[in-house]
Amino acid sequence: MNKIDPKWLNPRGRKVKILATVGPASRDPEMLERLVRAGVDAFRVNMSHGEHADHGETIDEIRKLEKQLGRPIAIFCDLQGPKLRVGKFKDGKAVIRHSGHFTLDRNPEPGDETRVQLPHPELFGLLDKGQRLLINDGKIRLRVIRADEDEILCSAEVGGVISDRKGVNVPDAEIPIPALTEKDRKDLAFAVQKGADWIGLSFVQRPEDLAEARKLMGGYGALCAKIEKPMAVRRLDEIIEMSDGVMVARGDLGVELNPEEVPPLQKQIVNKTRIAGKPVIVATQMLESMIESPAPTRAEVSDVANAVYDGADAVMLSAETAAGEWPEEAVAIMDRISAQVENDEAYLDRVRFLDTPPDRTTADALSHACMTIADTVNIAAITVFTGSGSTARRVARERPSVPMLVLTPSQRTARRLALLWGAHAVATKDIGSFEEMIAKGKRMALRHGFGEAGSKLIALAGVPFGTPGSTNLLHIVTLAGDELDNHEG
Ligand code: PGA
Ligand code: MN
Repeated sequence: MNKIDPKWLNPRGRKVKILATVGPASRDPEMLERLVRAGVDAFRVNMSHGEHADHGETIDEIRKLEKQLGRPIAIFCDLQGPKLRVGKFKDGKAVIRHSGHFTLDRNPEPGDETRVQLPHPELFGLLDKGQRLLINDGKIRLRVIRADEDEILCSAEVGGVISDRKGVNVPDAEIPIPALTEKDRKDLAFAVQKGADWIGLSFVQRPEDLAEARKLMGGYGALCAKIEKPMAVRRLDEIIEMSDGVMVARGDLGVELNPEEVPPLQKQIVNKTRIAGKPVIVATQMLESMIESPAPTRAEVSDVANAVYDGADAVMLSAETAAGEWPEEAVAIMDRISAQVENDEAYLDRVRFLDTPPDRTTADALSHACMTIADTVNIAAITVFTGSGSTARRVARERPSVPMLVLTPSQRTARRLALLWGAHAVATKDIGSFEEMIAKGKRMALRHGFGEAGSKLIALAGVPFGTPGSTNLLHIVTLAGDELDNHEG
């Protein structure tokens, strides 16, 4: 066995997970390690920026780190989707003056304060006078004065700094672009080849978009639907049904809709996804001011805290860790906010305000029982034996008071569960018998710091072992404390 700091194997001091975006500010191996130590459970590789060569290196570094630290880390490859972006600028950026004019054209030469390329032929000849173009998450608002086959001349209702490849939303027009662009297909093939654990699908509009992505994934990886279009909100139930997880992508959602429509939608999306027993991520601008400042605003602290109170599985950092000046501080603060909320004695009641009635299955009956047992007697952890991770998701859905130690023979499952609320997953050799299961559960609970002599564990499994959907066994064991001796694996 390689040398792993045993303390490092202990569970985090929170059940909610942290997903951090990798970028120029964090792709250095040393920084990646610092971020994981500070609290990152999963990394987002944003295919909207950068080249495959860089992403490939990042993924390799994360895998090295995973080995070195002895903990699974999820890699979330986020496909750009049919997102519209401007081209590049001479100086990397330019200032658009308030009430000035600005032109979007087909000229690939770097832009300046008067013009920039819009590398989307679909938009030329499509837009009409009076329609809006919103740039950089809506911070810059342009209105079309005149548009033809070559140029879109706009007036800047709200100006500001525009920089390379900033996003453009066109809420007033229907744009004939498919769910997966040519670039997305290439990026998806790359992500699958690099063994990504999660694929994020941007600008999902229809359940068919997910079906198409899943076909291309060929049974590999989990699929997360990013909810950022009004159309996706309209078909939310079907979209949740078709995905393995959901992201509340508040950045584009708040541009495509009015920003004030986002908070109620956040709660609705979190609730529905939780009821379905799938992980839900709250994303974007959570600690936005920390891109430049070492301390967040009170409002940002509240935003993270409220996402945790809403019962989200994970909270996300975007530019804060990808391009900000304080990536490590941002993760550390997110970690502290989450832990503080979960230590509030009202937290469990708050997250359990949501009624998640069990399905009429043995697995759900036992998952529900795990939650009530942990509320009744002093339990250190729920040890879940699972192949696909499905049992862990059903238990997490109950939001039990104690963490889950998830033991799985599948490394892919262990990694994927890095986004699931309350799951501390360990990839470990398969078990063959009841005795072996109990022995391993005890050993792993001690090794991972879940308990000590006298601590009680719940063991949840299905026999015969290795049969999917067979969860039928709930056992309560007490740690003697000497189980750790002379055992491997
Ligand atoms: P993005 O997605 O960062 O890829 O745009 C998140 C969002 O829109 O909120
Ligand atoms: Mn987005």
